[in-house]
Amino acid sequence: MRGKFTLNTANIDATVPATSGAYVLVNSSNNAVYVGMSDTDLNGRLKNHLPEREENSWIKRSFPTDFYFESTANSQEAYRLECEWFHQYRPSCNTAHPAKLSYSWACPICGL
Ligand SMILES: [Zn+2]
Repeated sequence: MRGKFTLNTANIDATVPATSGAYVLVNSSNNAVYVGMSDTDLNGRLKNHLPEREENSWIKRSFPTDFYFESTANSQEAYRLECEWFHQYRPSCNTAHPAKLSYSWACPICGL
């Protein structure tokens, strides 16, 4: 996992590639706010969490200040990381288990 980095456009463009990958948003106390993934463009996905662009009001009210991420070779690896971090960090704004893009995938932690 790389980070943490302050959540702003300059840091995202300097560190995050436009590939598949997973990320964790944290608040100023380093508590996990949200875990997510992108199967094609992690750079663009993270920019949607900038304060001025965040559309999820719950995440917005939780004031994520920093992020961690890992780029991956494909979307299935991104899903596996998202699952591991979801179970490990219990982010406050994830209302459901990460969604898989293929029925053939399984969560490495709980098997869902
Ligand atoms: Zn699971």
